[in-house]
Amino acid sequence: MSTVVIGGGVIGLNIAWSLRRRGEEVCVLEHSAIGRSVSAVNAGWITPSLSTPLASPGVFTLGLKHAFDRDGALSIRPKLDTEWIKWLWKFRRAARPDVYETGVRALFHLNAQTLDLFDELHDDGVDFEMHQAGLLALAQTPGGLGWFTQLFDQLLPMGFTGKIDYLTGSEARELDPAVGTSVSSAVLTSLDRHVNPESLLCGLHKRIDEMGVLVRENTSAQKLTRNGSSWSVETAEGNLSADNVVVALGAATNTVLRPLGITLPIVGAKGYSIDLGGAGALPQHSLYLMEPKLGLSPYLDTVRIAGAFELPANDESITNRRIRNLVDQARPYLSGWTPDADLDISTGRAGLRPSTPDSLPFIGPLPGHNSLFVAAGHGMLGVTLAPATAEGIAELVTSNSLPSHLLPFQLAGRI
Ligand SMILES: Cc1cc2nc3c(=O)[nH]c(=O)nc-3n(C[C@H](O)[C@H](O)[C@H](O)COP(=O)(O)OP(=O)(O)OC[C@H]3O[C@@H](n4cnc5c(N)ncnc54)[C@H](O)[C@@H]3O)c2cc1C
Repeated sequence: MSTVVIGGGVIGLNIAWSLRRRGEEVCVLEHSAIGRSVSAVNAGWITPSLSTPLASPGVFTLGLKHAFDRDGALSIRPKLDTEWIKWLWKFRRAARPDVYETGVRALFHLNAQTLDLFDELHDDGVDFEMHQAGLLALAQTPGGLGWFTQLFDQLLPMGFTGKIDYLTGSEARELDPAVGTSVSSAVLTSLDRHVNPESLLCGLHKRIDEMGVLVRENTSAQKLTRNGSSWSVETAEGNLSADNVVVALGAATNTVLRPLGITLPIVGAKGYSIDLGGAGALPQHSLYLMEPKLGLSPYLDTVRIAGAFELPANDESITNRRIRNLVDQARPYLSGWTPDADLDISTGRAGLRPSTPDSLPFIGPLPGHNSLFVAAGHGMLGVTLAPATAEGIAELVTSNSLPSHLLPFQLAGRI
């Protein structure tokens, strides 16, 4: 059987790997070059212990409060657009405690194999940079760790096995000398990891190429047509025919689905990141700076700071102010390692998180369209959820059966 995967971000490339290792003939279509999308801009966290929906009690009001705050961690802007208003309405409903808890459970089960799957990628020869020291959440204010610690109260009864250590500021500095003196409390989650996202994309690209997947960069899918028992994918470079099609286009998913009469509630949420040089010993852990809600990831040769969640967004433009703020807000949390003073703002990047109202991705068949599947809407968790998503889609495509842990990610009742 043959499958065309449309989209060469972290989701599409993982799907290609999972399908190919089951013997499927696979072609990936990527409209740009691999490694240019939001899948390269992110912090690279693999965080089963932080896999919770953004739509949570109180978040709607908080987002609107910061609608026009140019420095806010989360901003939700009102806009007269029917699709956006519908999305917001669903987001508000999804933030109810019972729906939120169902979402936490669904993501928890989807993540059951996440760490093993990253190990499998590695063991299979996908060459990427992965760090396993855990995530250190840092707070400066009393109560600053608040929601983070409550999260574990929800995860533990579900069977979460990760280890969580509560630390004072000095204990955190002893553990990781990069932690600043203003930090008063911290939590270390031992099972979380982080990757260098570009290395993951590059490693997957190289490995699937070796495995015989055809990766066609600079090739945009324009239209899907059903021809008898197969699909025809129209591109400017000619048509491709395949038994199955998987749409993994992140925030651009509707561009291909809309002509088929399907519009999924996926909007872009803009986030920013910048890679920095600095002086001193690099942080040993990925750091979550609780008050400004920033993520900091140390890699072999650089440190990335990432953050902001601007809803809705449809372009990747950068404001110097946003990028500068990432660094300014991070500085007080650091001391043993300090970012270089001569910051080149122009190296900052932005990307669109494909965001659904309930913060759960769509992973499954498109009802009414044989052999057409979607894997999109992973929001702030695309790297973490990519291998599990890919395995689920590969299972569906090759055995036509829906694994039970994918039930909460189906379209029914959510569009
Ligand atoms: C600042 C920031 C920090 C983040 N940090 C993390 C993190 O630490 N951990 C985590 O798990 N997640 C994180 N995320 C989220 C994560 O980056 C996304 O969820 C993930 O990258 C989405 O991947 P994707 O493959 O669905 O989409 P994309 O990466 O957008 O891939 C879709 C691809 O489709 C291509 N395309 C578009 N139209 C067409 C077409 N017509 N034909 C062919 N190709 C097309 C695009 O060029 C693109 O390459 C972060 C995001 C941001 C912005």
